[in-house]
Amino acid sequence: MMPDTGTQGRAPDEERAIPAARILLVEDEPSLVLTLRDRLVANGYHVESCGDGQSALALANRKPFDLVILDVMLPGMDGLDVCRELRRRGMELPILMLTARSQVVDKVVGLKLGADDYVTKPFEMMELLARVEAMLRRGRGPLLLTGEGVFCFGDIRVDFKRAEVCRNGEVIALSAMEYRLLRHFVENRGAVISRDKLLDHVWGYDATAFSRTVDVHVASLRQKIEPSPQHPRFIITVHRLGYRFDG
Ligand code: CA
Repeated sequence: MMPDTGTQGRAPDEERAIPAARILLVEDEPSLVLTLRDRLVANGYHVESCGDGQSALALANRKPFDLVILDVMLPGMDGLDVCRELRRRGMELPILMLTARSQVVDKVVGLKLGADDYVTKPFEMMELLARVEAMLRRGRGPLLLTGEGVFCFGDIRVDFKRAEVCRNGEVIALSAMEYRLLRHFVENRGAVISRDKLLDHVWGYDATAFSRTVDVHVASLRQKIEPSPQHPRFIITVHRLGYRFDG
């Protein structure tokens, strides 16, 4: 990874070197392809691009990729169909969809069809790079634990064996529910998780009427683990869809 790209705002010791991942970029807008390719390559990724769905499927069949950046609006076969077809062929690589602001339905459908995440056009390049990095990390096994059941992000250290969360060595007092919530976020990092899913998995009941409960607990968890709770860096709100942990 190049020293000054893609990691602004992070302490050097936090940088996690990602070996040259291979990215398939499917986009029909030539200027966006150029910009994206430049930035991805500058960040150490190998990039191959194509401008339509059929070529994307052919490329994905021929070569192994670690991640697909897939525009929804493509000539001919659209990105949603490409996404569905990749999954139908048993390809499990992460898929990041590019959607337009007006295409709320596409985001939801895309996630249902097996896309892992999306960014809305126009997007900040930094945001896209952060998503790509998070998705690639997530694609590398169920939990990247250092040593004995420990996961670190920012200056937070989560010890799953002791159910203990520390910042710079100081124990942070989390409620049982906050801890379970954090654990679920860590285990599913990089993925958008709906409030309903959080209620199901963390609270253990199906109660859409109480999705506000999730927001309240997320807010209190942010107060305890985010460097700046008003501008969350780890527990990100994904408009209309839920939350995503980017640790
Ligand atoms: Ca397009």
